[in-house]
Amino acid sequence: MRVRFAPSPTGALHVGGARAALYNWLMARQSGGTFVLRIEDTDRERSTPENIEQILDALRWLDLDWDGEPDLQTTHEQRHRAVVQQLLDEDKAYRSTATADDVRAYKDEHGAGVGFRGAEHATRSHEEGVGAVRLRVPEGETVVRDLVRGDTTFQNVHMDDPVIARADGSPLYNLAVAIDDHDAGITHVVRGEDHLSNTPKQLLVYAALGAEPPAFAHLPLLHGPDGKKLSKRHGAASVQELRDAGYLPDAVVNYLALLGWGDADDETEISRGELVKRFDIGRVSKNPARFDETKLKWLNGRYLRAQGVDGLTATIAGHLQASGHGDAIIGRDELLRTAVEISQEKIQTVDDFWPLAGFLFTGPVDDEKARDKWLDAGHQPNLEAVRDTLSSLEEFSVASVDGALRALVAELGAKAKDVFQPLRVALAGTAVSPGVFESAAALGRDETLRRIDAALAGSAA
Ligand code: GLU
Repeated sequence: MRVRFAPSPTGALHVGGARAALYNWLMARQSGGTFVLRIEDTDRERSTPENIEQILDALRWLDLDWDGEPDLQTTHEQRHRAVVQQLLDEDKAYRSTATADDVRAYKDEHGAGVGFRGAEHATRSHEEGVGAVRLRVPEGETVVRDLVRGDTTFQNVHMDDPVIARADGSPLYNLAVAIDDHDAGITHVVRGEDHLSNTPKQLLVYAALGAEPPAFAHLPLLHGPDGKKLSKRHGAASVQELRDAGYLPDAVVNYLALLGWGDADDETEISRGELVKRFDIGRVSKNPARFDETKLKWLNGRYLRAQGVDGLTATIAGHLQASGHGDAIIGRDELLRTAVEISQEKIQTVDDFWPLAGFLFTGPVDDEKARDKWLDAGHQPNLEAVRDTLSSLEEFSVASVDGALRALVAELGAKAKDVFQPLRVALAGTAVSPGVFESAAALGRDETLRRIDAALAGSAA
């Protein structure tokens, strides 16, 4: 089996593209076959080195390794031109000066469903530069055999003679793709459904060359949870955005693999090895798949915790360095480990960590609403009582803080939240944090009392 991923490097790798790359990769690795990466760089303005690097970078991050060097489509241009010439020589193609208006006039005359035949506009000579090159569509039918969608038959009479090269001889997409796939010995073309309408044209090229076409699989588009085509509006829509938002590549691979693949629902944790074993393109649904970031988040949280506290601490430390919080954690390895330990159940991406636990390192955040609600005059006596209790504790640990403060709640006859929330806001500056006893113990007695004093001073003011 030889498969390929053939992106046009126009910017970030969309998650739909990443899914196509992944399915190809899974098929290659399962079969012991070859995964070719072909960069379709014929649009030279958009195919900048940076855009190419973005695609490679996204694939590397996902750990989808390709075999051999990336193949640049522009390096095959001479071959494409030679095939165009061969098809002209064999009279399987012709040069035509037909304009869009000519095509319209033809349809007006013959009926809208009748494929355009440009014979009347064919230039007498095959001289270069006179008219675009069109392929002659033969009589008969063209069958697209698709592993996801089954067979679709197109009657050739409805197909326009496709343009395969511009007047200057430069090849067009449908010609270039078919030749490159053929030359690379590609056995299965797995790509997005947006290419479905191109496939019959590519099959005509194979037929003109007398070549056996590959099998095809067109993957349904990705929709957001609202059933509309996936876009930025739904959150992260590219691999780069997912990485920046703090997802782990293994969780992304797991989630993308299961999207619309009938073997498991999209919340199952399946290792890469298991995916390679079990993946079956024939079981991919032909209905649009729903990319739901909340499910990915949930799955990502499980992958995060599966790293264990030490592994997760290292992952988070790396992310904090990269996102500009490196200074705040220098020399505070133990606090970071504790912070990770007490936050892990509440975070789903590494990005969630700092907003939740950053206060342990940098002091309370500034959440006026939380302060107004929980550090008001009404709660002040409770916070003072908390201070007294904590300052007289013999040992300052999660268990001792927990026990003493619960006893205090009972003694005061107060609601737990009216005692715990003022403490939480004093420590964190806001009402969402890791466990309040755990947070106090992580900060230690001195810092805890210092923050309570500051809060009491602030709320009294
Ligand atoms: N270069 C095309 C694209 O990025 C894909 C071509 C193909 O997979 O056949 O949309």
